[in-house]
Amino acid sequence: MRFAVIEGNGIGPELVKATKEVIAATGLTVEWINVPVGDPAYEKYGHPLPQESVKQLKELKVILKGPLSVERGRGRTTCIHEDGSEHTYPSINNAIRRELKLFVAPRPIRGYPGISGKHADMDVVIMREITEGIYVGWEHQIGDCAAQAIKLATREAVERLTKYSFEYARKHNRKKVTCVHKANALSITDGFFLKCFLETASQYPDVPYDDNFVDATAFNLAKFPKKYDVIVTDNQYGDILSDLAGGLAGSLGIAPGANIGEEVAMFEATHGSAPDIAGKGICNPISLILSGAAMLAHVGQTGAAKRIEEGVRNVLTEASVLTPDLGGTATTAQIVSEIIRRMPA
Ligand code: NAD
Repeated sequence: MRFAVIEGNGIGPELVKATKEVIAATGLTVEWINVPVGDPAYEKYGHPLPQESVKQLKELKVILKGPLSVERGRGRTTCIHEDGSEHTYPSINNAIRRELKLFVAPRPIRGYPGISGKHADMDVVIMREITEGIYVGWEHQIGDCAAQAIKLATREAVERLTKYSFEYARKHNRKKVTCVHKANALSITDGFFLKCFLETASQYPDVPYDDNFVDATAFNLAKFPKKYDVIVTDNQYGDILSDLAGGLAGSLGIAPGANIGEEVAMFEATHGSAPDIAGKGICNPISLILSGAAMLAHVGQTGAAKRIEEGVRNVLTEASVLTPDLGGTATTAQIVSEIIRRMPA
């Protein structure tokens, strides 16, 4: 098995190291290939996402990624393709997803009895569209008196997202799919998103579905989390709701994620590079460890994936060895040892 690795920055390298250790403990032999993106790419190629790295990532197809910081107000990244064409993306993370043609970020976020209080039985998968919405990158400054962003919803992207979500619901025996939107305020763009969702959903009569406004969804997730199973939503709502769900479960440090395309799949945590705790050895590695388990399941190693998930579940349910984000005093290394110790044989 060969996986590409983007180490990221902030807590990225600590998370990647922890995830590699847990995967090694399953007994699988893995070749990890570091691909320069961000600062290492800038040093080598003079660009944070050079086409050399994009090409390598496309060839390797399955990627483990640490988070990458984006400077506030200065994140826009322009990629120059081999044919001379250019595309400007709102951030390096958006650029990676779109250069690799990844279209959906499934974020399975669940509670655990030991740490999540009344969200212990929350179990949602947020399907975030990752190619368009308000993050499409069409922003304009209008002199010094205004700034404007354009939101995009295309039939192709919404149908692809919806199909993926219903297929996922069928495969994973999920009970309901909910489209989350704001079609009352954005009647044209979100109205179209909802229309395309409903048309596609009608092709899956065996899976119940409904829809909900995004503000009501935020309230319901906090108050009645069991209302939701699979959530289908646009780029920005999915970005925000997945952080909310992570917080409700107990910490962003337990929120895994993936970015899926037709050819390439990239596995990364829901959260960012957490510069406030980087380098201290106390970040919670579970978010990327669970993303790594999803990566193993993606390549057919479901046995190893389940063992890792079970090890994590045991540690979180018992709640005696926890990192500071969950109220404990354990280090990242101690959590890794504990997960390995609590993994079934
Ligand atoms: P963040 O998600 O990095 O951190 C928010 C809070 O959660 C912080 O208090 C942090 O300490 C905590 N946290 C996050 N992950 C944790 C973990 N594994 N263990 C323990 N605590 C954890 O959000 P931010 O501070 O707004 O962003 C930091 C940087 O990350 C920014 O530059 C942002 O643009 C970038 N970012 C990157 C990605 C990505 O790579 N996909 C996603 C989101 C943000």
